[in-house]
Amino acid sequence: MTVYKHVALIGLGLIAGSVSLGIRRNGGDVRITGTARSPKTRQTALEIGLVDEVFDSAAEAVKGADLIILAVPIGAMGDLAAETAPHLKAGATVTDVGSVKSAVIDIVGPHIPDNVHFIPGHPMAGTEKSGPESGFAHLFDNRWCLLTPPKGTDAKALAQLREFWQSLGAMVEIMDASHHDLVAVVISHAPHLIAYTMVGVADDMSRITEQEVVNYSAAGFRDFTRIAASDPTMWRDVFLHNKDATLEVLGRFTEELFALQRAIRTGDGDFLFDYFTRTRDVRRSIIDAGQDTDAVDFGRAAASATETEKK
Ligand code: NAP
Repeated sequence: MTVYKHVALIGLGLIAGSVSLGIRRNGGDVRITGTARSPKTRQTALEIGLVDEVFDSAAEAVKGADLIILAVPIGAMGDLAAETAPHLKAGATVTDVGSVKSAVIDIVGPHIPDNVHFIPGHPMAGTEKSGPESGFAHLFDNRWCLLTPPKGTDAKALAQLREFWQSLGAMVEIMDASHHDLVAVVISHAPHLIAYTMVGVADDMSRITEQEVVNYSAAGFRDFTRIAASDPTMWRDVFLHNKDATLEVLGRFTEELFALQRAIRTGDGDFLFDYFTRTRDVRRSIIDAGQDTDAVDFGRAAASATETEKK
């Protein structure tokens, strides 16, 4: 299915790479151009076929493109939007894949010319890996992609972008940007921050040597370390650009943590049991919604299958 004839990828990492491979999986005659910051990434992307042509600058990469996807850390989007603005084709659509939406609208929006559509987006799919070789074609299969069109967005352009994400296997939902930012903290940003904190705490505790952490780590901690291995630049930018929602959710988190702490101190087993029963139900509803599997070692089997597939 060919939704756009020419797609320009600004940034050639995990998300852009997966978009490219998803387009290729569909077949069809789609021209993909792209750029990234470093010559090494640009060269790799060309060698592994993520792009038909790679350019040193974003300005060159977007020329003639029907869809331009900003797939870089959020802190880099403003300058790239400014650089590319004079080179965008009339009638083209600019979107992004950033994990925060209100800030992207503020940073990118003012640079978009009147004759170009701007529809921010966030595919709710990813891994802790980064770089051009980490992408895979089925990353977006059965995952949600949230689009946050500003008021007055052209309905036809929006329908076309929706069709594009659906062609990559995603389910699409339209959402208000600030609501998106709050939801994203609950389901993604805060869990990452908590994982970063827990791994930091373990690292700080001198009686747990690095070797013990590595050797004896139980599944819970192992999953934290996987999340805490996520790209530092990307996550720095996420927290710097989603301050209010992050601080609001962290406030709630701290209150809950104190409640659990109190229950442990006072020996309130009923409280702990009821709490853990409720959270177990949440896990069940995620599995029922098809957003994870019930496999015992969840995540790992799927990840190694992906690695094998890529080889
Ligand atoms: P990634 O694998 O680290 O790739 C980032 C890409 O951006 C790299 O190709 C990098 O080039 C390029 N880049 C960085 N600064 C640039 C600049 N100034 N000019 C041109 N290119 C630049 O990151 P990713 O995981 O694909 O994330 C990209 C975006 O997707 C982020 O905004 C993130 O919030 C969002 N997102 C990520 C996930 C996830 O789980 N990873 C999920 C959903 C959304 P070099 O390699 O040369 O540095």
